[in-house]
Amino acid sequence: MSEQHTFQAETQQLLNILIHSLYTEKEIFLRELISNASDALNRLQFEMLTNDNVQDAGADLEIHIELDEDANTLKISDTGIGMNRDEIIAGLGTIAKSGAKAFLEAMKDKPDDGGISDIIGQFGVGFYSAFMVAEQVDVVSRSYRPEDEAVRWSATGGTNYTLETASKDVRGTEITVRLKDDENEFTRGFRIKDIIRRHSDYVAFPIFVDDEDEPTNKQQAIWRRNPSEVEDEEYDSFYKMLTMDFGGASHHIHMRADVPMQFYALLFVPGSAQPNMFSPRKEPGLKLYARKVLIEEFNRDLLPEYLGFVQGVVDSEDLPLSVTRESIQATRVMASLKKTVTRRVLSELKRMAKNDRDTYLKIFGEFGGYLKQGLVIDSEDRSDLEPLMFFQTTHDDDPSAFYSLDEYVERMAENQDDIYYVVADDYRSGSRSPHLDIFRQRGIEVLYFTHPVDAMLPMGMVDFKGHKLVSVDSAALDLEDVGEAAAEQETAQESLGEDAFSTLQARVKAVLGERVSDVRESKTLVDSPARLVSEDDSANRYMFRINRMLDQDYELPVRALELNRRHALMHNLGELIADGDDADLIDAVVEQVFETALLQDGLHPDPSSMADRLTLLMQAATGSSSADLPFAEVKTVIAEPVAAGVFEGITLDPVDVEEAMEEAEE
Ligand code: ADP
Repeated sequence: MSEQHTFQAETQQLLNILIHSLYTEKEIFLRELISNASDALNRLQFEMLTNDNVQDAGADLEIHIELDEDANTLKISDTGIGMNRDEIIAGLGTIAKSGAKAFLEAMKDKPDDGGISDIIGQFGVGFYSAFMVAEQVDVVSRSYRPEDEAVRWSATGGTNYTLETASKDVRGTEITVRLKDDENEFTRGFRIKDIIRRHSDYVAFPIFVDDEDEPTNKQQAIWRRNPSEVEDEEYDSFYKMLTMDFGGASHHIHMRADVPMQFYALLFVPGSAQPNMFSPRKEPGLKLYARKVLIEEFNRDLLPEYLGFVQGVVDSEDLPLSVTRESIQATRVMASLKKTVTRRVLSELKRMAKNDRDTYLKIFGEFGGYLKQGLVIDSEDRSDLEPLMFFQTTHDDDPSAFYSLDEYVERMAENQDDIYYVVADDYRSGSRSPHLDIFRQRGIEVLYFTHPVDAMLPMGMVDFKGHKLVSVDSAALDLEDVGEAAAEQETAQESLGEDAFSTLQARVKAVLGERVSDVRESKTLVDSPARLVSEDDSANRYMFRINRMLDQDYELPVRALELNRRHALMHNLGELIADGDDADLIDAVVEQVFETALLQDGLHPDPSSMADRLTLLMQAATGSSSADLPFAEVKTVIAEPVAAGVFEGITLDPVDVEEAMEEAEE
């Protein structure tokens, strides 16, 4: 007795597109059906590891294709896991999986015709792609559960399909594709075998065409083959199949090891950190096989979390086959697999960083943030990660140039022991930092720390090869003997007199109050009037940035304000104070000096709030009498600071950092 069912609306839509598509490479329907059969066999294999009660437990795990030119049909059958009535309704009546859904989404933006064809091949549109060539599709399936009845499913691509109970002796699924008249090429053996060899050669189960003795496919998984015999195009197409990332990978690593463990791995560094929205690799993790049986689709125990961007397959001969997904994690084999695989990925990256810098920097541009997180969080891999770090520096004025820490160390100035870095939002604002005055003058190179994780690096990497990492805004900085002072220092403007400076100092302190821990003379400023320095070289520097990025309560770092006694602005202020007039103007300038210094460190919570004050200052500069200007009405957003030391005792939880970074990067 057959019953009618209606396809889910999305399925109807998909069918409609596929049936009417002018896509020329319709042959991919076979790839999709074979891939489903192979999945079904894989799942059965996995089930048999733990379940004794399987229908036809002895049946061979195979895929058969039978062609009938007279009837114009192609029949593909497998001895996989099969489907019962409910499963067939769920599997073949609705679209649950990513591929087809993503395909429909992509279609929404396309005009009716053009473009459609190009993208069909890129998606796993799955089972339904049979309707590109079929007039009618009949599926008879019997579940591996002995108690389930076989069921027949039929559809012609309209809005309905029919279901009825069927008889089928052996477990598995048999799909009969009744071809459209003009698609009869798919009943020819040589054509079908050619398609199989091109698209499905490494499917792990034998595919027999028309009951020939020899399977058509080599079956050997690409990762189990000898690397010297695999062509680049094969790696490329495997990567694309795996990830649906049609931009291609930027690097592949093919490993085979025999001792101490026997395993195969084929790993890829994707070309881009932006995953294809259609990618079936929705989570981080590698595909884990144990002796060719797929155990886990997304295994995260094979690589440290910071290498989560790596894609690929690991196939071990040593994992006990009786494992459950839950127990794998605990095996010793896993721990040593992880170690070996991780070392290999890191050493490969190191090799590239050394010998193939352009490729490496591309990878670093995409995934450097992950590697940096690794340096902060996984201190045991520190020595492997350090050589992978590259930075823009003040060495030249070329933002496209990135240098390694070793290169920096080689170029260190006379008497230089420490490695200096400036934390900034980006290269341009970093290059304008007042902190760099003295470094420029003395010819000392400074690293730009512009990535959100950079400011945290010193937590995982206190020093590099014995050279401490020191922020250019540390109050303790003493560069007297480092590098060589440029001659122009002699011609710098005269210093503001002792008394005048003390008065200025007191005034600034009075205006800024608790917002600064001290006001003092700078020994390092050359062209800039002021800068803010951190008294304790604590690791808290990054906290402010993260809070700001997360838009959480902004907590002001209380720092010392250093003033440049040689700067014309300080001279002018000194004179104004001596004259005893323009109290409001002086205070407004002091506020602005302070906020400008915050801005230059990328720490101003709300830069546009300065506009009102700046307008008044411009009015004063262009002739308005400062006494008439409403300076007092300008509200400063940075009112009362958090007491110094409030961050003390906060220890960093790697998970928090990671979450923070993820959010920040969005
Ligand atoms: P996908 O394979 O991406 O899930 P399909 O549309 O190709 O999407 O298939 C939908 C579902 O139907 C599958 O997830 C699977 O559960 C089921 N299915 C398809 N073909 C088979 C098969 N040969 N054996 C068992 N189940 C199948």
